[in-house]
Amino acid sequence: IENETSNDPWIRYIRINYLKNSKTELMKKLEQLEFKQRLYSKHDIQFDQFKTIALSLAIDEYLIDYHFEDVFVFNDESTKKLTPLYEDGSIAMQDKSSLLAIEAMNLEENMIIMDACAAPGMKTSAIASRLNNSCTIYANDKDKKRFNDMKILLKRNGVRFKSSTEDFTQIDPTKYSNLDCLLLDPSCSGSGINRRLEYTHQNHGDQSTEENLNIKKRCENLAKFQLAILQSAIAFQAKRIVYCTCSKYQIENEDVIEKLFEMNLDLKNQYEIIDPMPEWPLRGQGNYSFSLKCLRADYETTMTNGFFCCVLQRLQQQQQQPS
Ligand code: SAM
Repeated sequence: IENETSNDPWIRYIRINYLKNSKTELMKKLEQLEFKQRLYSKHDIQFDQFKTIALSLAIDEYLIDYHFEDVFVFNDESTKKLTPLYEDGSIAMQDKSSLLAIEAMNLEENMIIMDACAAPGMKTSAIASRLNNSCTIYANDKDKKRFNDMKILLKRNGVRFKSSTEDFTQIDPTKYSNLDCLLLDPSCSGSGINRRLEYTHQNHGDQSTEENLNIKKRCENLAKFQLAILQSAIAFQAKRIVYCTCSKYQIENEDVIEKLFEMNLDLKNQYEIIDPMPEWPLRGQGNYSFSLKCLRADYETTMTNGFFCCVLQRLQQQQQQPS
């Protein structure tokens, strides 16, 4: 895995867990830990200026993120001091880039959601937090050990969820015929991760025992698996499918989406790719007709880990053309 020990100046993103405290309550807890909020006006500055401020944060300062209200930014050196808040579920140590997938889900109360590759549960937890548990979430993961760790994390964070440990490609879609959103965050090369975080729950399950395979071969294998996951997802007929990875490679991202549409010619009559966040600065790669509708994140542009996200929105019945 590349970039594991990057020397780039780094910051720490945390996400408020609304299931354990409100924003005001968390800010009080931070005050007790002697942190001060650095203020800025979103109206007065550009994102580039925000990046400069974030990188100049002192060890006892924090900012509220420029894009996401539930994300706070700290100097990386502050991480240790935040540990009690992480341990009691007040916050999650979650890179801002992951939140792109949550934003892309266009969450609304009472939604029925499946998180198909959910362990260790970071995104499930973010969904439940943003919806204050007013939703039905099926959290599934094939890996039993990771699944058990996920259940511990979700319980600690106060998340209400239904869980299963199945190979997603083997699940009978007719059992979940009314999904509003299907989140697909399958195993990937993890090549976008700028720096591995020390918390074990941030291990992205990328089967690193395959170390002896070279990166290219490994990504090709992962891309086949990712395509199989997407291929299975179509049968669920969810209103929205959100596909994401923390890989920086096109082969695991845009190319997989293109192949999906190539292999399923009728898919364009069922789903369209939409841009879930027009204000986001970094876009998909490749010359595909949909590339600019995909979201990407990286250290240079968005000051985050590398991330990719693509949204397939089901077309309204009357818009669907006969095949
Ligand atoms: N969404 C998680 C989060 O935000 O915490 C991270 C998911 S991690 C990138 C990918 C997960 O996919 C791993 O936990 C792995 O066990 C799971 N996985 C791999 N193949 C799967 C399959 N066929 N069905 C279900 N889960 C699978």
